Amino acid sequence: MIENVNMSNKINCPHCKKDDIVKRGSYQTAVKGKVQRYYCKNCDKKFVLRGAFYRMRNTPKKITLCLDLFFKGVSTRKIQEHLQAFYPHNSSNVSIYKWIVRYSEMISRFTDKLSVKSGTELMCDEMEYHRLGKKNWFTDIIDTKTRFLVSSEYMEKRTNEALTDVLKSAKKKTGNQVKIVTTDGLMNYPVVLKKSFCVDKKRTVNPIVKHNIVNASAGEGFNHKIERLHNTIRQFTKNFRGFHGSVKSAYAIMKGFEVNYNFIRKHLAIGKCPCELAIPELKFEENKWLELINFSVKN
Ligand SMILES: [Zn+2]
Repeated sequence: MIENVNMSNKINCPHCKKDDIVKRGSYQTAVKGKVQRYYCKNCDKKFVLRGAFYRMRNTPKKITLCLDLFFKGVSTRKIQEHLQAFYPHNSSNVSIYKWIVRYSEMISRFTDKLSVKSGTELMCDEMEYHRLGKKNWFTDIIDTKTRFLVSSEYMEKRTNEALTDVLKSAKKKTGNQVKIVTTDGLMNYPVVLKKSFCVDKKRTVNPIVKHNIVNASAGEGFNHKIERLHNTIRQFTKNFRGFHGSVKSAYAIMKGFEVNYNFIRKHLAIGKCPCELAIPELKFEENKWLELINFSVKN
């Protein structure tokens, strides 16, 4: 685990940061319902948790419900129709979209800090996207053992810099566990892997990390593990009919997809969430989206 990541569900005092806290009464609000008041025994101060939903006019439950539905493939318009049926103060599909972008970014800033207990082989591949008439890319790296999506990025172009960033992030999360990185025959990879995983082409005997090239045009094809991931992504992006917003929001939505894939949904092939294998220290109680948001605020 990367140092300084706080994964406990304990509450810390906003004044002195200690966790010697007791509940001390509550009050009702119109929008958010009951708000708990706390008392810090260490510094003798009362406080309420501001957290991730401070100044939001909607409840954490409603917001996380929207995130959950969206990443299950329900469009923002359909989510809005659903909310209309159950909540008197309704939100537009534009604010739902904004919540998805905002909280996807927030959570992924936290999850990107976590180290992964991976296997020895990573697979890296790119998928083509057409956004506003231009060709963009989604690059993803999975750990073949836990199926954890170790690193991913939505990019406008497959430049060496952009690819190096994704692979560096995968290296940072997996440390020295990886021995093989499998990619397609894209010309960029030898340089990119040298910069990120220190792959040394000349060292053919006992290499520290080996670059395994799968030549798709020769009919070798990629492994079903990454094919399955790509099918999931295709299905997901088809449901919301592509990215119409900025690159920044496309990027945020794909980070949210990554969070959903790793932490929320059960992977059919392994019968559990990839994070249960890859980050066993991370424990959830009930509403995973909400708990991930709370972890992000603490970190
Ligand atoms: Zn205190």
